Parts: sequence; structure tokens; C-alpha cells
Amino acid sequence: MNLNKLLRKNIKNLVPYSSARDEFSGDGKVFLDANENPFNAPYNRYPDPLQKMLKRKISDIKGVSREQIFLGNGSDEPIDLLIRAFCEPETDNIVTIDPTYGMYQVAANINNVAIRKVSLSPGFVLDPMNVLHAVDLHTKLIFLCSPNNPSGNNLSRSAMLHIVRNFKGIVVVDEAYIDFSPGNSLLSDLQTHQNLVILQTLSKAWGLAGIRLGMAFAAPEIVAVLNKIKYPYNLNILTQQKALELLENKTVVENWVSTLISERKRVSEELEKLDIVQKINPSDANFLLVAVNNAPDLYQKLIKLGIVVRDRSKVHLCADCLRITIGSPEENDLLLKALKTF
Ligand code: PMP
Repeated sequence: MNLNKLLRKNIKNLVPYSSARDEFSGDGKVFLDANENPFNAPYNRYPDPLQKMLKRKISDIKGVSREQIFLGNGSDEPIDLLIRAFCEPETDNIVTIDPTYGMYQVAANINNVAIRKVSLSPGFVLDPMNVLHAVDLHTKLIFLCSPNNPSGNNLSRSAMLHIVRNFKGIVVVDEAYIDFSPGNSLLSDLQTHQNLVILQTLSKAWGLAGIRLGMAFAAPEIVAVLNKIKYPYNLNILTQQKALELLENKTVVENWVSTLISERKRVSEELEKLDIVQKINPSDANFLLVAVNNAPDLYQKLIKLGIVVRDRSKVHLCADCLRITIGSPEENDLLLKALKTF
């Protein structure tokens, strides 16, 4: 892969903004470099633009080097930055699977970049050849999502790696739900594949959707590109502090995940017993895609009881499907009790 050839010319030539904190290194005592207010510590200071402490911790947990980590305002930030860095508006395109997470399309639309959608096979299975056939000379990025949203299943590891090996651009594998599917991450393949970007997030298993922290793992050259074009202080101090706190406490997260995985099994088994349920797609995530009799009607009935699920019935391959997040045992009981009355 030739990164310079893939990059947009204006991004390759860009001189990035250099902040006061970027230029300083060493043991400063008196900070008169950033026009900050000296009062109201620690929030008076700009945050570390490259989040060094947080990256050190994430590097230990994930077994990747700090130079392979980009941190953003949710994974939505690296999704947008990747498209902005590599895709020339009105010329280049991205390829995604269908159905999948909606932000790849929205980010492409915002950037005026075309999107080519490749249908998954029945059962939401990835056929790597179909994806590679959709690629043309202007395809810069392929987005895969495993476990996939909204289907919930893992994509085949060998199918994804086949695409990574045979595509000359960048393959982004969104692993937002990977903690619910141990052993299936492509993180261990990062060293051998310079064109692989893996997205993970603290929004799901880590229970921190509110602080907005997404991670992109990739070759240092790709991480450097994302750092070059991000807002200088994209992660605020509160987010960095709170993330560090939870990352120190991994066992809490492991307990949440094992509760959610056993609840996923229980909810699935209970749903199977209901007449209104037609099919439950096997899930490796913290949600179930469930085909029911008349999804929009059931959705409205649940709303009337104050229970909000996601109506996915208009989505490709998801006719009459609701996407149901696995909640706490009490929340799941409320859902199941309500469904039994319909
Ligand atoms: N990727 C996938 C597949 C998702 O489903 C979501 C959220 N629904 C995200 C990314 C967004 O994650 P974040 O909160 O880190 O922006």
C-alpha cells in the first residue's frame, strides 16, 4: 500500500495547526503559552492533544503500541476523518456492506463521497468476492463491521482478511461490539497488515457512551494522518480522566459483559417461545435482531408502555425486524412481560 498515493493531495500537503501544547515538551512550571486563565485548575488548562497517559493505558490493555492508537470523540470521529483524509469529494468512493451501521453512509454523504453498498448474503453472511467486485480505481476505503450492526453476528475472520489482503486501499473493521464476542478481534492482525484500521469504542461494553471516546488502531503512518487533521483538543479533560478511571477497573467491565452475555441467551430463549416472534438472528453483540409479526405495530405497542426498541423493518434484509438491546435483568423482564401480553 502506498499511503501517499491514497491520501487526498490537499491533506498530504497540509501544514497542520500547531497548538501551544504541541510545541512544548519538558518540565514546565509556569504556563504562559496558551492564553489560559490561571484560575480554576485543572479545567483552566487545555487537555493533552495527544492523550499520552490514556494511550499508555490503552496500549497496555490492547497490546498495541501508542503510535498505533488514535483517540476520537466517539468512533464516529475517526469514521469521518478517514473519509475526509482519503476520499476526494465527487471523485472517490467507499464500499460498505449492507445492512450495516448508518454512520459510514452519513459521513460519506456529508463529505460528498459516493458509497457503493454490497448486500450481505441471507443470514447476513459476508462474501468477500462480492465486496472486491464492487471496488473500482476510485475506491479508497472499505468499511466492514464485526459484530455487525444491526444483524448482530460476527463476519467471518478469513473473509475479512481475504479483503484486507486483496484490496489496495484501506479496510476499516468496526469492532464496536467486539467485547461481547471474545477471541474474534482482528487486532492481532494489525502488525501484518498496513492497510487495516480497527475501530473500537468505550460506548458499549465499557459503559461510557456519555463521555464519547472512540479508538482507531492502525499502522503509525495512518494514525499520524488522523492526528494531523483532527481538532487540536478533540478529547476534553473530563473524558480523559473518566476513561482512565474505568480502564483501571477492568474487572467491573468483565462482570457487566458476562451478565449481558448470559442475559442475551435468556432473552433469546424467552423470545423463541412467543408466537409473535418469527426469527432471532444469532448475536455476538449486546443486541438481538428479531423478526416479528408486524414490526411497526409491535414497536408502537411497546412505546405506549414506555419501552423503546429500534424499528429496523425498513432496512435492507431486515423486513419486520426490531433491534432489541440487552438491558439489565430487570429491564429485560419488563420487555418480556410486555411482549407476553400482546
Ligand atoms: N460503530 C458501530 C457499529 C455502532 O453501532 C456504533 C453506535 N451505535 C458506533 C460505531 C458509534 O460508536 P461511538 O459511540 O464510539 O461513536
